[in-house]
Order: sequence, then structure tokens, then C-alpha cells
Amino acid sequence: MLRRSTSDIRRANRLDVLRRIYAAGSATRQEIARDSELSFATIANVVNDLLGCGVIVEGHFEGSGSGRPRAVLVPNAGRGLLVGVDVAETYVHVALFDLALQVRHASEHPIGPETNQPDDIAAHIGEAIDALLAEFGASKSDVLGVGVSVPGQVAPALGVSVFAPGWDWHDVPLLAILQERIELPVYLDNPLMASTVAELWFGAGREADNVICVTVGTGVGAGIAINGSLYRGTTNAAGEWGHSVVVYDGRSCRCGSRGCVEAYVGAPGVMRTLRELDADSPLLHGDDQDATIAALARAAGDGDPVALEAIRRTAGYLGAGLANLVNILNPEAIVIGSWAGLALGPHLLEELREVVARHALDRPNTAARLHLCDIPGDPVSLGAATFALEGFLDEVLAGASRTKSGRSS
Ligand SMILES: [Zn+2]
Repeated sequence: MLRRSTSDIRRANRLDVLRRIYAAGSATRQEIARDSELSFATIANVVNDLLGCGVIVEGHFEGSGSGRPRAVLVPNAGRGLLVGVDVAETYVHVALFDLALQVRHASEHPIGPETNQPDDIAAHIGEAIDALLAEFGASKSDVLGVGVSVPGQVAPALGVSVFAPGWDWHDVPLLAILQERIELPVYLDNPLMASTVAELWFGAGREADNVICVTVGTGVGAGIAINGSLYRGTTNAAGEWGHSVVVYDGRSCRCGSRGCVEAYVGAPGVMRTLRELDADSPLLHGDDQDATIAALARAAGDGDPVALEAIRRTAGYLGAGLANLVNILNPEAIVIGSWAGLALGPHLLEELREVVARHALDRPNTAARLHLCDIPGDPVSLGAATFALEGFLDEVLAGASRTKSGRSS
């Protein structure tokens, strides 16, 4: 097993401090020391690094009784821009963020089967960034980094899209393709990791350190944050809970296995449940997932019995899968997100809580709060932008420590 290097530990400490400042909007060194397990000396060092590269500033000083006034640390919004890109199976969402990670400008372009090859995607992203910067009155030199989330399995360190099942991509060297088109530092990851980091910094993670971010769209996953850090697993494939089995020998799944959570609660799985209940249901819109899920949510709101039964069954499969997560990981918060989860969520939640309570052990179930994602905007592009911020800090601070220690490589 690989031991964590000193630079890994420094990096983890830096992210811990940064997350606490961003999550709260502002924090003093003393507050960070109170809420984290880091020593005051470590926090002071990390804060000096972050102040040194201008990512945070000392906003104002607050009194502390008889002691010295304490500096309030805040993100330095004007230090530069970050770009967060959410490449989904049917659209590309590109957002320009300031360094406080507030959206300043954004655009969305549909993509279809004729424009979903790597070169097409890179061209879409490149054109969108150029247009956003021009409209915002900024230039590429203002951008510190671009975070790009693409569906499927990604190896960020290699810059490779290992497998995107929806597009039949295998081992695509996407980072190199993107960097050549965009001509900015690019950081690659997938929507599961991106939405979990967004949740950690700007959602449930503001109050909890052990968080599971369940994404329910066409695909299904469960991003995992443990002790305030994203858990990636050995090959960045942690959280592929959508391909854990809830029904032995059940429906075949696009991963090649059978009975996966995704085959029942992913949008196509929910549509299949609806079709099994009533093959001629007017709620079915052919293969159109968006239209069918929207119609199902509306009909459930109107009390339609077929829609309610489809929701009840979906809650059963999803709840059984969530109960497994509760028992294995003992989280503080489980957040349901992504488009189908948010559309059906209001109708699912009550039944879902009952199913989880029936199947999970009492003690971990009582500890786990289950709710819908309430991060406004596009959490995936937000998470991708935080990866760009991390990448920028890795570059400048690794450069600074090389200069300090006098090494040339
Ligand atoms: Zn599967």
C-alpha cells in the first residue's frame, strides 16, 4: 500500500481549510481550529500559503474580548476567474465563476448523437468559453483554470475518459484534446465527484463531514465524502453504487450485470417500471426521458394511481439501496440530486424514508438525514470549478515550495 506523502498531507490540509472558509463564507483561524482536527500551527501555515497566492484575503478584524482582534478570512473574489464545465449526455453547461465561486455568467448548448465525439465536445467547450469571456469583458489571461466533468469513469491524473457507456468512449485522451483547443489549464473529473465536492463545500457539507451525494439521472451513483474529504477509491471509481445489486438476477443493466440499482431507479429504469404497470400509459413519451419523468412527477402530484404506484416501487428499490449505504458508511447526511432525482424527489421522499427505516439498522438510520439537494444552479459545474481551483493551488504552491527549497525540478 502506498503511504501518503508529505505533499498529499499538505494538500489535504489545504483543502480542509479552504472548504471551511468557502462553506462558511468567512472564518477566522481560531474558528477553523475549533471546527477541524488541524493544529493551530498547521492552519496558520496553510492560511499564509493561501494569502500568499491571493486566493483569500483578510476581510476585517473582529474583537475577541480582551485578546488581540482576529482577522476574518474571506475568498478573494476578484483574484481571477474559474470555468466549470458540466458535459452531460444531452448538453454542455459552461459557467464562469469568480474566485468566491459565484457564477458570473453561464451558457448551455444541446448536444446530439451527431456531435458527441471528443473533438466535437472540445470545440463546444472552447467556443462557449470564448463567447462567455467576450460577453463578460474578460480574457483568457484572467482564467486560472478550467474544470471539466464528463460522464462515466475518468482517470484525472492521466487525463483520460476511461469509459463513457452512453457514448461508447473507451480510453479517450480527453485532457490533451481539451488543452489543445482551450489553451488553458484543464482539470478533468466526472459528475459524481464534482457534485459531491459541490455538496461538501456548499450543501450538506456545511454542517456534516460524512455525506453521501446520490445522483439519480439517466445513470445513478453515490459520491462519498468521509471526514470532510472526497473518497475516490483506488482508481477514482468509488461511488459506482448504481451498479450494486438490489434484485438478484433482476433486470439486465447497461453495465453488463443484472439487478443493479440503476436498472430500477435510473430514468430508463423508472420508465420501464411505468411501462410494466401500464404499457399504454399516456405518461410515456417514447424514449424521451425528460418528458416522461416530468409527466410522471406531474401525475403523481395530481394523485394518478399508476403514477403513485410507479413512485412507490421506485422508492422501494432506491430505499433498499440507500439502506445498504446507511449500514455500510453510517453517514450524517444523504442528499438526493441530479435531474430525475430532483423531479421525482418531492413525491418519493416520504416513502423513501420509510423504506430506509425498515431496512437499515436503527442506530445508523437515526443518524442519517435524508433530503434533496438544494444547491442552486448547476452543482456539477460548480464542483468542476472547485477542481480547477484545487489544480491552480497545486500548481502555484508546488512551484513556490520548489523555489523555497532551491530545487529546479
Ligand atoms: Zn449495472
